[in-house]
Amino acid sequence: MKQLLLSSWLLISGQLLLAQDVGYVKEIIDSLCAPRYHGRGYVEEGDVKAANFLKRQCQTLGLTPINGEYLQGFELGVNTFPGAMELSINGEQLETGEDYIIEPRSLGQEGSFKAFNLKKRHCKSKEKLFKLAQKEKVNNAVVVLDAQEEDIAYQSFIARIYENPLNAKAYIVKTDKKLTWSVGRSMLGTTVFQVEADRLKKKVKRVELDVDQVWKSNHRSFNVMAQIPGKKNRTIIYTAHYDHLGRMGADTYIPGASDNASGTAMLLDLARNYKDNPPEYNVVFLWFGGEEAGLVGSKYFVDHSPIELQDIDFLINLDLMADAGTGITAVNGKIFTDAFERLVQLNEEVGQLSKVNPRGSAANSDHYPFYEKGVPSFFIYTMGEYKHYHDIHDRPENITMTNYEQVFELIMTFADAMARE
Ligand SMILES: [Zn+2]
Repeated sequence: MKQLLLSSWLLISGQLLLAQDVGYVKEIIDSLCAPRYHGRGYVEEGDVKAANFLKRQCQTLGLTPINGEYLQGFELGVNTFPGAMELSINGEQLETGEDYIIEPRSLGQEGSFKAFNLKKRHCKSKEKLFKLAQKEKVNNAVVVLDAQEEDIAYQSFIARIYENPLNAKAYIVKTDKKLTWSVGRSMLGTTVFQVEADRLKKKVKRVELDVDQVWKSNHRSFNVMAQIPGKKNRTIIYTAHYDHLGRMGADTYIPGASDNASGTAMLLDLARNYKDNPPEYNVVFLWFGGEEAGLVGSKYFVDHSPIELQDIDFLINLDLMADAGTGITAVNGKIFTDAFERLVQLNEEVGQLSKVNPRGSAANSDHYPFYEKGVPSFFIYTMGEYKHYHDIHDRPENITMTNYEQVFELIMTFADAMARE
């Protein structure tokens, strides 16, 4: 049955010489995660270097620029940690990213300080806290808090430490939750660390820290754009963000292999295939910057689009494509139900993934600004065992690209169906 459907599809489109290449995809992922791109964030122009790498790939593949340009620049304000990033507790140095993360909006700080371990009893009343805030032993200290403490007043105090209510030198929050980093788009009134509870079994007495922080108010980043122009007046757009979280100090960066070197590389692999077998319709590829900073690149794009948004037949955004062991999810699958039914049907014919899961709308990746402007769109991500997310372990050697071929075939077949309806 599969054979029959595949060959009839071949006859219709005349282009099913699918040659997806997981080796090529892995090579691109390795490149994007290499130290020279600094986690594709805002330190050492890692994002700009990655954008230029993608531009070179587009040129190598012979893709056409859009209105003569491969790059679309935009600006954003962002908090960065380009230099020192050190935290020692009771004389023992902790490993950045592994034992602790810094709150992304933190200020810099340097010095050797006594610790003040805040207890439940300190939070009993506002007066108590107010008095504490006047005390030198608190003002000159790093305040240590325990997120596992269940007291309500204590928890609500933890939620307020970003404003530095105790006028302390810094704050350490002991946590047993997974350390998940992000991008800071504003600055706190202090420096805050989240530290693995396992590393703080003994009472904290002394804290040494050294954090270099730079606020960049006008960082210039780029979207990368390319197309394969077709004859018919139909347009399919593939999008993926190439940026990630960048550096947490000069010695540590977050590679973002799954998020989203995987989707970025898949777009190049799709482009390579379309280039070898050009379809009748237009295929556009957009790699966005600034996604982790709050969909900044894609929001800028829809407001300054060189493409008429109403001419887009369908947009497919790919993010987190590293492991489709148990299938894929389509965000907007519950919105564009006809398209979703088509996706499920095609999965039965060509993809054969164990699950194609629908979701409602969500502002969780770069499809969203397009969706808000009325562009029919899916955000597709893979589902499997891979769990590293926004941490130092999201590395090329940890990702499997399980069922890559099936996902590739399904997506390309689906796009083809959407361009024809
Ligand atoms: Zn992502």
